[in-house]
Amino acid sequence: MSDLAYKRTNVFEKADDAKKKAIFDYAEGYKVFVDEGKTEREACAFAVAEAEKQGYKPFAFGQKLKKGDKVYYNNRGKNLYLIKVGEADASKEGVRIIASHIDSPRIDLKQVPLYESDGVAFAKTHYYGGIRKYQWAAIPLALHGAISLRDGNVVQVKIGEDQNDPVFYISDLLPHLAAKQNAKPLGEGLGGEDLNIWLGNMPYTLAEEDKDKTVKENVLRILNEKYGIVEEDFLCAELCVVPAYKAKDVGFDRALLGAYGHDDRICSYPAYTALFDEENSKHTVMVVLADKEEIGSEGTTGMQCALFSDLLDEIARVFDTTSACLRAHSKCLSADVNAGFDPNFPEVSEKMNSAYLSHGAGLTKFTGSRGKGGSNDADAEFIGWLRTRFAENGIVWQTGEMGKVDVGGGGTVAKYIANMNIDTVDIGVPVISMHSPFEVISKADLYEVYLAFRAFIK
Ligand code: MN
Ligand code: MN
Repeated sequence: MSDLAYKRTNVFEKADDAKKKAIFDYAEGYKVFVDEGKTEREACAFAVAEAEKQGYKPFAFGQKLKKGDKVYYNNRGKNLYLIKVGEADASKEGVRIIASHIDSPRIDLKQVPLYESDGVAFAKTHYYGGIRKYQWAAIPLALHGAISLRDGNVVQVKIGEDQNDPVFYISDLLPHLAAKQNAKPLGEGLGGEDLNIWLGNMPYTLAEEDKDKTVKENVLRILNEKYGIVEEDFLCAELCVVPAYKAKDVGFDRALLGAYGHDDRICSYPAYTALFDEENSKHTVMVVLADKEEIGSEGTTGMQCALFSDLLDEIARVFDTTSACLRAHSKCLSADVNAGFDPNFPEVSEKMNSAYLSHGAGLTKFTGSRGKGGSNDADAEFIGWLRTRFAENGIVWQTGEMGKVDVGGGGTVAKYIANMNIDTVDIGVPVISMHSPFEVISKADLYEVYLAFRAFIK
């Protein structure tokens, strides 16, 4: 092929043995994060602990930031801002921002969840984010979350992850009796009110005089003994049902990695490790691990919260500048996954404009749907600036849209940051089976995204 034509690069094809080793070693660190951080609370706590090891200190409003500071703002235990105030004048250089999210699609318990039906205790649920409901039946599930008790204490719950823990379950029909269900459109196979979690099957039989010898009562008894909770406490709880298994290498060559919640921990991990590993950068850097991206970035812990601009205001004060000036010079990578090209389902993708696994960091100029609706559509100039930095640092990257025109679409946090007059583009790891209970990525892409983030911060 002539030098005039554009061609994607396969990361593994280009990698020497040292680079291949670096790719595989880096993925091992990520596995710990993705397994330990299955909810935004757990991912946030994990990242806070990592930041503290790197010398980051908690920041509270009222404190004054200064050059050289390394701080974190732990927002309600679900959303984390890491800030390194650099030596370079941020009134001219702005802030280098990498914004990822740590919430993932899952199934949440309702506020009055417990009931019994025909001798089985269940929990009612309301799913969180865009799931394909049928994928969540007949797999082992774990229960994670927090319960606020009457006495003000908060109990952290994590059941189903230890080898000896029980798991939970959503049932589906046996094929023998599923003729009617099979005839339904796939999306209607299981309805929202069918996602009921199996909790128990043994009646409470200890107290003979007790008239409430029910399975539900027995579950309540166990919950009370183990966590000191009563049924009313569910009103003040956030309980999340997530897959109970851990990350696993996929395929004979182990190039791929499967896990629950790659979207978007697969970009959060390279975001904060790139920050730590570019310790000597002169720039002021902010890494955001946002919550609520999967349901529209709303609320106190979502990217649309004023907290983001409040923190930028604090940085502006360090450099005796205005927030407007700081933002005008800032740049942001919206670090989120994109849809990897799946050879099993080529019909939904347009081959020239898809991100391919193991072909590097996937840059998405625009997201949205139906004529780029709802997308920030990054400037050619900003992408050109990135291309130069990536070329200087030998980063393998590619571009990819989410599917063919008018087939579907999606959004990220990018537009909320771009709306604040900050150049922003989406870049991240291409994913197969996005939002499923077991998503798959290429370790080469994970590593290349990490290198791309380092090049951006440097
Ligand atoms: Mn995402
Ligand atoms: Mn998502």
